[in-house]
Amino acid sequence: MTIVDTPERRQLRELTRAFVTKEVLPYLNDWERAGEVPRSLHETAAKIGLLGVGFPESVGGSGGDLLDSILVTEEVIRSGGSSGLIAALFTHGIALPHMVATHDDSLIDRYVRPTLAGTMIGALAITEPDGGSDVAGIRTCARRDGDHYVVNGSKTYITSGVRSDFVTTAVCTDFPGSGALSLLVIEKGTPGFTVGRRLEKLGWHCSDTAELSFVDVRVPVTNRIGPEDTGFLAIMQQFATERLSLATQAYATAQRCVELATRWCRDRSTFGRPLASRQLVRHRLAEMHTRAEAARAYVHDVAERVAAGEPVVTEVAMAKNVAVAACDFVVDAALQLHGGFGYLRDAEVERHYRDARILGIGGGTTEIMNEIIAKGMGL
Ligand SMILES: Cc1cc2nc3c(=O)[nH]c(=O)nc-3n(C[C@H](O)[C@H](O)[C@H](O)COP(=O)(O)OP(=O)(O)OC[C@H]3O[C@@H](n4cnc5c(N)ncnc54)[C@H](O)[C@@H]3O)c2cc1C
Repeated sequence: MTIVDTPERRQLRELTRAFVTKEVLPYLNDWERAGEVPRSLHETAAKIGLLGVGFPESVGGSGGDLLDSILVTEEVIRSGGSSGLIAALFTHGIALPHMVATHDDSLIDRYVRPTLAGTMIGALAITEPDGGSDVAGIRTCARRDGDHYVVNGSKTYITSGVRSDFVTTAVCTDFPGSGALSLLVIEKGTPGFTVGRRLEKLGWHCSDTAELSFVDVRVPVTNRIGPEDTGFLAIMQQFATERLSLATQAYATAQRCVELATRWCRDRSTFGRPLASRQLVRHRLAEMHTRAEAARAYVHDVAERVAAGEPVVTEVAMAKNVAVAACDFVVDAALQLHGGFGYLRDAEVERHYRDARILGIGGGTTEIMNEIIAKGMGL
C-alpha cells in the first residue's frame, strides 16, 4: 500500500515544492559552505505551516500525522533539497515529540510552541563519546539536589547542537550505565553547559553537528520530560518516527538520483549515441528505479501501520535497512553514470552520494536494526 493521495496532501506537496524552489535552492550551496542553515529559514517555514506538519494544532503545530510529515520529507528531497537540509530544518522532529507526548503545558508553552513558530531551535542529545548504539549505557548523569538536577557528562554528534536554544538530553538518573534514564530539557546559556567545536563531516554539510559538555549544570526539575526513570521507554517509543524519517530520506534520495541520472543519460552522448540508448545503461537505470520504488512502497506500508498504532518495531527496522540499501546502491550507480562530472561539487548527485552515508548510521545503525529484526524473528 502507498500513502493515500488526498487533495490536502497534493496541496501539501505543492506547498513544499514551492518552498524548496523559492527559499532553499538559490541558497543551499551557500549553506553547505557555511555549515548551517539560517534561523530565518525556520521562521519562513513556520509561517507557511511547514514546520508544524505532524504536530497537533493544540501545541502550535499545523496538524496532520506521521504520513503527512513523511510526504514533506519526500517532497523536500525530490524537489532538489537534501537529507542534510531535513536534518537541519526539521531537528524538532526528534527534539519535541517526547514533550508533546507528556501533555506538560509548561514544557509545551516554553519550548514546543516557540520551536514550531520558528523562533527557537531544539536538538536531541542521546549519543555520548563512549557509544551511541547502547542507549541504556548512557553515562551522563543527573543527581537530584532539591528542586534541581545537577548534570555532569558529555554528548557528541548532536544535530543542530551549535545553533540550538535547548537540548532534550538523555541522562542517567541512577548510577552511570544503570539504564535508569530520564529526559531533561537543558537550555543554552545555563552555567556549566558548553557547546564544543562544530564537527566537520563527510556529508550533511548544511547541518551543524556539535559536541556538548555538562559540568555541574543545574537544571530545574520542572524541565524533566515525564516521570523520572521513564526516559528509556520514551526514547524507544519515538525512535519509530526518527527511523521512518531516515528511511524516507533514503528512498527519496534514491528517487531523486534516479531522476538526475535518467536526465543525464538522455542528454549525454558517447560514441555518437545517447547513453540512455545502451542496454547496459537502460538496465542499470531500471534496476535503480525498481529498488527506489520498492523501498518507497515498503516504507509507506510500515508508516501506515505505525500511524494506525500497530506495534511494528521489527518492520520499522526492516524499512530503514531496505531503504538505506536501496539508497546506497542508487547513489553509487547514479554518480558512476555521471562520469567525472559526478565527482564534482557542481553535481547535485555528488552531494547526495556524501549525504547518503549517514543514513545507515544515524537513528540506530544497520547492524542495530539487524539485531532488532533478529529478536523479532525470535532469535
Ligand atoms: C551526522 C550525525 C548526526 C547525528 N545526530 C545525532 C543527534 O542529533 N542526536 C544523537 O543523540 N545522536 C546523533 N548521532 C549519533 C548516531 O545516532 C550514532 O553515531 C549512532 O547511533 C551509532 O553510535 P556510535 O557512533 O557511538 O557507534 P557505536 O555504537 O560505537 O558502534 C560502532 C559500530 O559497531 C556496530 N555495533 C555496535 N554494537 C553492535 C552489536 N551489538 N553488534 C554488531 N555491531 C554493533 C555499529 O553498528 C557500528 O557499525 C549523529 C551522528 C552523526 C554522524
